[in-house]
Amino acid sequence: MTETSYHFDTLAVRAGHRRTPENEHAEPIFATSSFVFDNAAQAAARFSGDEPGNIYARFTNPTVQIFERRLAALEGGESCVATASGMAAITAICIGFLSAGDHLVSSRSIFGTTTVLFDKYLTRFGIETSFVDLTDLESWKAAIRPNTRLLFVETPSNPLTEVADITELADLAHAHDCLLVVDNCFCTPALQKPLQLGADLIVHSATKYLDGQGRIVGGAVVGDQQRVGEEIFGVIRSTGPTMSPFNAWVALKGLETLSLRMKAHSDNALALANYLSNHSQIERVYYPGLSSHPQYELAKKQQSGFGGVLSFVVRGGREKAWSVIDNTSMLSITANLGDVKSTITHPATTTHARISDEQKVQTGIAEGLIRVAVGLESIEDIIADLTQGLDA
Ligand SMILES: *Cc1c(COP(=O)(O)O)cnc(C)c1O
Repeated sequence: MTETSYHFDTLAVRAGHRRTPENEHAEPIFATSSFVFDNAAQAAARFSGDEPGNIYARFTNPTVQIFERRLAALEGGESCVATASGMAAITAICIGFLSAGDHLVSSRSIFGTTTVLFDKYLTRFGIETSFVDLTDLESWKAAIRPNTRLLFVETPSNPLTEVADITELADLAHAHDCLLVVDNCFCTPALQKPLQLGADLIVHSATKYLDGQGRIVGGAVVGDQQRVGEEIFGVIRSTGPTMSPFNAWVALKGLETLSLRMKAHSDNALALANYLSNHSQIERVYYPGLSSHPQYELAKKQQSGFGGVLSFVVRGGREKAWSVIDNTSMLSITANLGDVKSTITHPATTTHARISDEQKVQTGIAEGLIRVAVGLESIEDIIADLTQGLDA
């Protein structure tokens, strides 16, 4: 058998590791910043690119490469470049594919820091962003200009779990000579394969489910050899937000259990969503696995599971939302997600605090909104803890 014939769970465990002469079973951590050449001619050949091989860990490290090959295999991409964080991955795509005078169209409901990057920093380099409602294909169409280069979408979105039709957006992008970038953080390749649906580039925050245990900050870009293996590789090599070998090792060990974890996260989240839907203090629950979710059918078709993140609006605005959060005792009050530990957060005053009030209204970040990233504790305990918060 060769790696190319392996199924997803086998790739997750075995892809990308090329055993060294020490015959190690587990993947080794190469804690070295540079690599030694046999002679001056070899050094020259490595630097010119005539001979493949390790040079310097800003852009070549064997442990990082195991993670890259494994994630590329799981996403079905030709190439992956690991980055220091998810934001570094998104920034690398902007630097790699946008120039002054270009325009990008992004779904409005994206990770808060991504909004800041587009709105505050890209504009300084003469790159404009139009934000659109991710479920409204007509508004994507209307926003495209002659100088549009990228469409950027996060699906399901954070924190409202809206689902975009990746195939439709890919067709739209390609009809206008644009690239479609999908932030696949919430689903991971265990539940959604954007490249198979037509996307050109995938970004990940490895900080979330890829590690899955809240231990590291990391990111990645996945796509074809030319765009990622050369273009993004070159950007990271020249700008420096590299993933460390230790973080790569943690993330690649995380990948080994990815599909088991994503299934368990999804099962727990669906059970919690069903429970919350029937609670008298709750106005609305956002979870793609509920048949009441506006894109339930699309989520069923496009994803093989609904993921671990849900949000809900409590009656009573910010005061009640904070009271719910403060009266839970097990759930961790932290903005992180994609951890085995369940986390609870108030988006309007944390992850989305830096966006304007107007944008909050437009994106549905209500004062009573609470996001729970459902972990892998017993669902009975998660429900009991939230009930304690809601009933306080
Ligand atoms: C966390 C997150 C990011 C940013 O990743 P970092 O690793 O924190 O830089 C980007 N997109 C989504 C959807 C995220 O949840």
